[in-house]
Amino acid sequence: MLTENQEKSLLVDTHAHLEMPVFKRDLPLVIQRAKDEGVTTILTVGIDPESCRRTLEITEAYKEIFAILGVHPHHAAEVQEGDLAYIKEDMAHHEKVKAWGEIGLDFYRNLSPPETQRERFRQQINIGRELKLPLVIHSRQATEETLKILQEERAWEVGGVIHCFSADKKAAEKYLEMGFYISIPGVITFKGAQGLREVVKKLPLEWILVETDAPFLAPVPHRGKRNEPAYVRFTAETIAEIRKLTLSEVASITTDNARRAFNLDKL
Ligand SMILES: [Zn+2]
Ligand SMILES: [Zn+2]
Repeated sequence: MLTENQEKSLLVDTHAHLEMPVFKRDLPLVIQRAKDEGVTTILTVGIDPESCRRTLEITEAYKEIFAILGVHPHHAAEVQEGDLAYIKEDMAHHEKVKAWGEIGLDFYRNLSPPETQRERFRQQINIGRELKLPLVIHSRQATEETLKILQEERAWEVGGVIHCFSADKKAAEKYLEMGFYISIPGVITFKGAQGLREVVKKLPLEWILVETDAPFLAPVPHRGKRNEPAYVRFTAETIAEIRKLTLSEVASITTDNARRAFNLDKL
């Protein structure tokens, strides 16, 4: 264990929401704790126009924090056409923007009507393709339709990331065929996540990413508390156990994967 710590395996948290009010008071400390745990690079996600603006401000203040901008399916019904154009034209060309998202379908919470979610999803896949940005996909209780829409809208032209992956092996294979990386959340540390652990056992290692989705879904041993990027280490450790690798091996593989997925070298 000591050796692992001394090595300071570098990790990338590929999905966090650092602009959310819950981080407002102590963001610099949150980022420092992430660094102390070797999480040097964080991709932080905007979910509506205002949150995208705050997201960009954060990435301007920290060298190794990058942005993913778009409109979340929960907010699909709130935004107007002009909002998407505003993010696309006024913000997405910023050098810190590395992907368009998170976009997709959430039929679990249905905070926006399903039909509006579908329409915004299709529109935003096309924005990503136009901008040649990888797409970050949110899909909850909607696997089949997500796959169908990605296929129909030619999402494979840009590929991207299936964030907070929770589907089965078959779906994972279809996502991989379209050039999507599979991002594993802290859920994998939960007792009840046997199914996800089984899928991760068989995924090709070069297509796996790790994420926190902070402030949500804190991994064990912090389950139920506010999540933060430093905790992505627990997810990587669980993957290491499953794949019978060391933490530093998983860190180095997933960090290389993240660099490829988000073109992080092209700064
Ligand atoms: Zn999400
Ligand atoms: Zn998210």
